[in-house]
Amino acid sequence: MLRLKNTLTRAKEEFKPIDDNLVRMYACGPTVYDYGHIGNFRTFVAVDVLRRYLKYRGYRVQHVMNITDIEDKIIREMRAAGKSLREFTEFYTAEFLRDMELLNIERPEVTPRATEHIAEMSELMEKLRKGGKTYESDGSLYFSIASFPRYGKLSGLKLEGNIAGARVDVDEYDKADARDFVLWKAPKEDEPKWDTPFGPGRPGWHLECSAMSMKYLGESFDIHCGGVDLIFPHHENEIAQSEAATGKPFVRFWFHVEFLQVEGERMSKSKGNFYTVRNLVDKGFSAEVIRYLLLSAPYNTQLNFTFDGLRGASSSLDRLRNLRRRLADLKSAPGSNAAAADAVKKAIEGFEAGMDDDLNTSAALAAVFDAVRELNTALDEGKVLEGDANSALAMLEKIDSVLGVLGALENAVLDPEVEALIEERNAARRERKFARADQIRDDLLARGVILEDTPQGTKWRRK
Ligand code: AMP
Ligand code: ZN
Repeated sequence: MLRLKNTLTRAKEEFKPIDDNLVRMYACGPTVYDYGHIGNFRTFVAVDVLRRYLKYRGYRVQHVMNITDIEDKIIREMRAAGKSLREFTEFYTAEFLRDMELLNIERPEVTPRATEHIAEMSELMEKLRKGGKTYESDGSLYFSIASFPRYGKLSGLKLEGNIAGARVDVDEYDKADARDFVLWKAPKEDEPKWDTPFGPGRPGWHLECSAMSMKYLGESFDIHCGGVDLIFPHHENEIAQSEAATGKPFVRFWFHVEFLQVEGERMSKSKGNFYTVRNLVDKGFSAEVIRYLLLSAPYNTQLNFTFDGLRGASSSLDRLRNLRRRLADLKSAPGSNAAAADAVKKAIEGFEAGMDDDLNTSAALAAVFDAVRELNTALDEGKVLEGDANSALAMLEKIDSVLGVLGALENAVLDPEVEALIEERNAARRERKFARADQIRDDLLARGVILEDTPQGTKWRRK
């Protein structure tokens, strides 16, 4: 039984979808004004682990992740770059989707763009206007938070002391500044704008997620995800807009991912303390290692990013892969050995117990590594029989359907470039050009490829 911490109730609750076997989930996607950093990807990897574990537990998943392609920061940066909105956001959207793929994050079923859903946003505003939840000022439309008595229920905000009718136009602000927020922004010179029954202008950030989630998932759905920074104001405002419009509960479970930190501070673009996926790949860390690091700490605890941590993730991943290699290469007698079979069984039970407990990945991994140790010892002692090897391999494949870090068993298609460089290095060694040979080895290492000279020739593997 899967239990998830629900930000709304502040309790761990048993998870059950509204519809029998189908989980409808929404994740706030990227604001595409720059490359994503690995803090952003911590959240997207955690959502991916949630998605994959739901599938592991037999649910079908309908997952929507929006692309925010109109927003204050986008307008600022696109101007600085001298690009059109479309050209600017398409570039960063493509880069984001590429990084997702590198990190083995499954593509959500729907990835709608905000600028392609202006009609749905208009409809939602119309409902809110008819219900008396909005007012207009200087060509902009605002949501009146006083008209929604449950405002603040997600973030625990107390509204006393707020200045009635005070407004906020920017997309991001603090709890201390809780105000009537903007749904539709009056056009400013040079800003992209769209025509609606409310006049020309552009949407505020919060409106898009309510409009797109309800369009693709219905007025009430199961899980809404994002980083903890989105609890207020973004998700609070989404609840207000959606529930004020439909009169129905918007979302059952709110799932919030804690920050990736760097030296005690949140990794963020504005602090400049961030790494992108490609920064780390250029330093020789594979995307699987980055993914492993990001998912190895439970999503609801802060994770401090360090290069030591990344190297630790790399060696943990090596241990899993090396065990898989040994099991796959094993030539042993048919049958099963009780100790090995027991290790495999316990690994699966422990993995599921950890994951069922609010996706506690570190407990789940600890159970798997207990089995890794036991199986390696059993292999050393020749006590793993064919049946055990097969079930251990099946166990690794099963947990990797959630973790998504092991990759294909062989470096199956040998990367021709690596092969050519190994060939060149062998030639250099034959000619006693050791400096060149070492340089090739170091270059490959920097690109995440480790060479091992064995009596059977030079072998290679990815870090
Ligand atoms: P953005 O592109 O800024 O809208 O952010 C995309 C997602 O990344 C949101 O769900 C944020 O909450 C999340 N996020 C931003 N910074 C971090 C961080 N340092 N650690 C974890 N998640 C983050
Ligand atoms: Zn959102």
